[in-house]
Amino acid sequence: MLDLPLNIDYTGKTVVITGAGGVLCAEMVKAFAQSGARVAALDLNEDAVRRLADELKNEGLECTGYKANVLDAEALEEVHKSVLAKYGPCDILINGAGGNNPKATTDNEYQHEARPGQKTFFELDAAGVDFVFRLNFQGSLIPAQVFAKDMVERQSGNILNISSMNAYTPLTKIPAYSGAKAAISNFTQWLATYFARSGIRCNAIAPGFLVSNQNRALLFNEDGTPTPRSGKILNGTPAGRFVDSSELLGGVLFLCDDRAASAITGVVLPIDAGFAAYSGV
Ligand code: NAD
Repeated sequence: MLDLPLNIDYTGKTVVITGAGGVLCAEMVKAFAQSGARVAALDLNEDAVRRLADELKNEGLECTGYKANVLDAEALEEVHKSVLAKYGPCDILINGAGGNNPKATTDNEYQHEARPGQKTFFELDAAGVDFVFRLNFQGSLIPAQVFAKDMVERQSGNILNISSMNAYTPLTKIPAYSGAKAAISNFTQWLATYFARSGIRCNAIAPGFLVSNQNRALLFNEDGTPTPRSGKILNGTPAGRFVDSSELLGGVLFLCDDRAASAITGVVLPIDAGFAAYSGV
């Protein structure tokens, strides 16, 4: 069981979470299930969400895993039908599927540092760039088209997108991922406006630099000192520390609660130990 920062009762709510097999969203699945919700955990990786659902069912919580590709509208409509039959209409949609791709990443931070054979801006792969934009942007838009219909019918619901620090100012090496997350922040405002009189709120979180078991080795040397890139991150973070993935849950549970966040729509909440606020000087 997680040690949740907020005890909000989500009993009776159906929560659909995409990317639910991943690091951050699996934690969100657990948090909502533990708060009483019925959680539909969607991911391309069927094994991951089935395992997660089994784990939660063993704890007496309500969760079902569904294989789902957020870019395949037709298949997603089928998943929607299954979720409707099992748990009823979607109250909360969390668009968690997203990420970068190495083909859309330069090897160096600056052009003048590029050595022969390295991937520069000029070698970025168009298909890789397209993949990143589609996964992050369309991968949030399409599930919203599918699941927000339930919300419009009932004039009630919530959509939560996942933006990023790179949406405010792009990070070096990852132009497509930065652009796609900027598009997500923008889309969050668009959806919030579009659904403003339909009883649907739409917000986003922008996670800061996270340490998880998966990336710990990339961020820290064996002796515990930061690697050069993580040293830059820490220097750019006023609090001088990374964010723990568990620290996202307070913002997520708060933004999705219709009482606590009743008048909050169209915001992108940085959860970043101050990174986005700091100019570096
Ligand atoms: P992750 O890679 O651990 O999980 C992403 C999940 O999405 C995976 O389980 C993957 O199978 C699934 N997925 C990929 N393509 C899919 C598709 N087409 N359809 C359905 N599922 C698909 O990533 P994470 O670190 O948990 O990140 C979750 C979200 O948070 C992403 O949008 C990411 O961009 C964003 N984010 C992450 C960080 C971070 O530091 N981890 C920071 C800021 C934002």
